[in-house]
Amino acid sequence: MTQAKTLTPTAATFKALKCKECGAEYELAASHVCEACFGPLEVTYDYNTLRRTVTRETIQSGPNSIWRYRSFLPVATENVIDVGTGMTPLVQANRLARRLGLKKLYIKNDAVNMPTLSFKDRVVSVALSRARELGFSTVSCASTGNLANSTAAIAAHAGLDCCVFIPADLEAGKVLGTLIYSPTVMAVQGNYDQVNRLCCEVANTYGWGFVNINLRPYYSEGSKTLGYEVAEQLGWQLPDHIVAPLASGSLFTKIYKGFQEFIQVGLVEDKSVRFSGAQAEGCSPIAQAYKEGREFVKPVKPNTIAKSIAIGNPADGIYALEIARKTNGSIASVTDAEIIDGIKLLAETEGIFTETAGGTTIAVLKKLVEAGKIDPDETTVAYITGNGLKTQEAVQGYIGEPLTIEAKLDSFERALERSRTLERLDWQQVLV
Ligand SMILES: *Cc1c(COP(=O)(O)O)cnc(C)c1O
Ligand SMILES: [Zn+2]
Repeated sequence: MTQAKTLTPTAATFKALKCKECGAEYELAASHVCEACFGPLEVTYDYNTLRRTVTRETIQSGPNSIWRYRSFLPVATENVIDVGTGMTPLVQANRLARRLGLKKLYIKNDAVNMPTLSFKDRVVSVALSRARELGFSTVSCASTGNLANSTAAIAAHAGLDCCVFIPADLEAGKVLGTLIYSPTVMAVQGNYDQVNRLCCEVANTYGWGFVNINLRPYYSEGSKTLGYEVAEQLGWQLPDHIVAPLASGSLFTKIYKGFQEFIQVGLVEDKSVRFSGAQAEGCSPIAQAYKEGREFVKPVKPNTIAKSIAIGNPADGIYALEIARKTNGSIASVTDAEIIDGIKLLAETEGIFTETAGGTTIAVLKKLVEAGKIDPDETTVAYITGNGLKTQEAVQGYIGEPLTIEAKLDSFERALERSRTLERLDWQQVLV
């Protein structure tokens, strides 16, 4: 085992790991399951101290990254890994809102998160900062693609050894976007759930820091910053409704935790926010449980183009279900064709190119508005979690082609005329 002793925080505000099921508390080590009941562990904080010491001003005077919220993150030393992760744009999406029939819609755009263009940079920045404190020299993960990109990149920056595990059939952009940082990459012949099972065994025997296994309680706290930033960017207010993609369900539950913590320490006014979740039909165990009114999630075998959220056995599925139900939100799924349309709709209305997970979110957003499950008057935030340049094969063949012309003015003019005629024909088809 390469893990050194646990550093006990001095001025830190995080206190313990606590079982979400039975409430048993544990020391702040690299562990993620309760020894008594096998429930998942979560980091707890000293909210009284936070209420006394943290203000909107102390946050605003911090760095322009997730580390402005560091008192709410489980890292003890000053020496965090800050690669500019977080504080991504919250875009008022007026053109998309009009198309969907909403009045106030925002896109939280993590397609441009640093350094690897997905929300996973948040969780990895936190997990690796904590991994270093806990004495790990090798870090690892079980990934659907984005997590491998992020772990490899941030490990490179921090000088940590890195070995990541991915399903062998990932998109080329996700594989290349990992290899470029020169980690060891294991492409496992199997789906994510099989990769994850293998990684649990490796974590138990090799003493590596797996960001989403033994470091999971720290890793998942990074997602809370998606809640904090939206609250701050809305002028220290909470939205009425959020829509976010669900893979393991962790991100969804942590946005909720982030909002609750800001209410608890008095940074925003108390308000109920509706939480709606998005899944791809080809991997929708949480949406199915929601639809059937079940309290438990039945694992499925994934088959969808939305590979980044294709987790058939979601660790936090039941907690995501619980939050959607108690906040009067909902969980829905969409087909691969709807996901492609969602990617295109966001691109042509807002100029944001998202990957398949974002297409899922936009398609579910549209579906929920059409079903009357999002009120046009609600201030709604849709979370776009990844970048379309990484999953180009998903839209290949579904977008236009360039007009190839000679380097002559008349060739250009003929092509322009042709494209305008085609556009008119398109419109005539719409009208009939
Ligand atoms: C990992 C991922 C998610 C969801 O992650 P959770 O496991 O639910 O926390 C959403 N979008 C993208 C692009 C991802 O890579
Ligand atoms: Zn327990």
